[in-house]
Amino acid sequence: MTSLPMIPIAPTTSAAARRAALPPRHLADLDLPGRQAAVTELGEAGFRARQLSTHYFGRLVRDPARMTDLPAGVRDRLADALLPTLLTPVREVACDDGATRKAVWRLHDGSLVESVLMGYSDRVTVCISSQAGCGMACPFCATGQAGLTRNLSTAEIVDQAVHLAGVAASGVVTGAPARLSHVVFMGMGEPLANYSRVVAAVRRLCAPAPEGLGLSQRHITVSTVGLVPAMRRLADEGLSVTLALSLHAPDDELRDELVPVNQRWKVAEVLDAAWDYAERTGRRVSIEYAMIRDVNDQPWRADLLGRLLAGRLAHVNLIPLNPTPGSRWDASPKPVEREFVRRLRAAGVSTTVRDTRGRDIDGACGQLAAAAVTQ
Ligand code: SAH
Repeated sequence: MTSLPMIPIAPTTSAAARRAALPPRHLADLDLPGRQAAVTELGEAGFRARQLSTHYFGRLVRDPARMTDLPAGVRDRLADALLPTLLTPVREVACDDGATRKAVWRLHDGSLVESVLMGYSDRVTVCISSQAGCGMACPFCATGQAGLTRNLSTAEIVDQAVHLAGVAASGVVTGAPARLSHVVFMGMGEPLANYSRVVAAVRRLCAPAPEGLGLSQRHITVSTVGLVPAMRRLADEGLSVTLALSLHAPDDELRDELVPVNQRWKVAEVLDAAWDYAERTGRRVSIEYAMIRDVNDQPWRADLLGRLLAGRLAHVNLIPLNPTPGSRWDASPKPVEREFVRRLRAAGVSTTVRDTRGRDIDGACGQLAAAAVTQ
């Protein structure tokens, strides 16, 4: 194994990234009273905020021409002020016979981010990005290779879900319901490194329409490399979202390399924070573990992981390693994966192997980089 990457505790933001202008304000940045205040400031009646919100969150309509319950002059003024274009589609690709669709968006400053829509027989899930790039530098993840460009605004995060809820509603996701039901913060970025905007985005996704998208908190998953203070803070928010912890190794020696933030918060500490989260929220924590051939897939590591998790409110999601450009690592062979599962289950730990949705379109876990896009 090679030398350890630089420890990315504080996001490694370049001077250029710090100067990057924030996107314009959007109604999804504000709660309903905030939107009413903004509308009043524009000299319009406060109830227009609710009308505008009903279009955006309730009907998934963002084109002012379709908002016929608003007088024509008012429509454009309010849409200019509160519904600026945040995400411009660069391209959309489908795979898995139309059940998976990846969207690449250009933000107002030219940054690119990606979101993935996944249809199943009983639900539609969108995987959204919380940052442009990522500062966590996990060596097996494509997003980690280019570093962090910037945090997304609350509305830039929410708008990915609203856009793709519209795509789902159009009925193009084969073999799946038309209504978006689940959101996972497993796209580009480290959600807990953009804490306040991510929590505000969760609140907006879950607020009933017209304040928000009306999703169930239990259908939201926030995934983290293990930023312990932020995990503890999240437990205090009174939200019932699922926490996913990208563990990938049960021992510090290997995790220091695979998830460099482990150099700051060790396995024992991060699991402690995970169990506190489970206890406070009653939610089972999802332990993410990418299966990397001859790196973290040995039977002894399965046994060690089993001992760490036995009796806890946890579920293990094994992710066959997805290929990333230039990576020296491969997925574990299926018999090795099966033995790993067997040992975890024998230890009494609930375990499943994640499907590899979106692989052909670089839309699977760890493949989101947005760099290969021809502009
Ligand atoms: N930064 C957060 C959110 C990203 S979620 C986190 O790390 O949890 C993306 C998930 O895919 C994480 O569990 C990540 O470790 C995993 N992943 C990254 N690269 C991968 C790859 N090449 N193959 C399989 N899983 C990968």
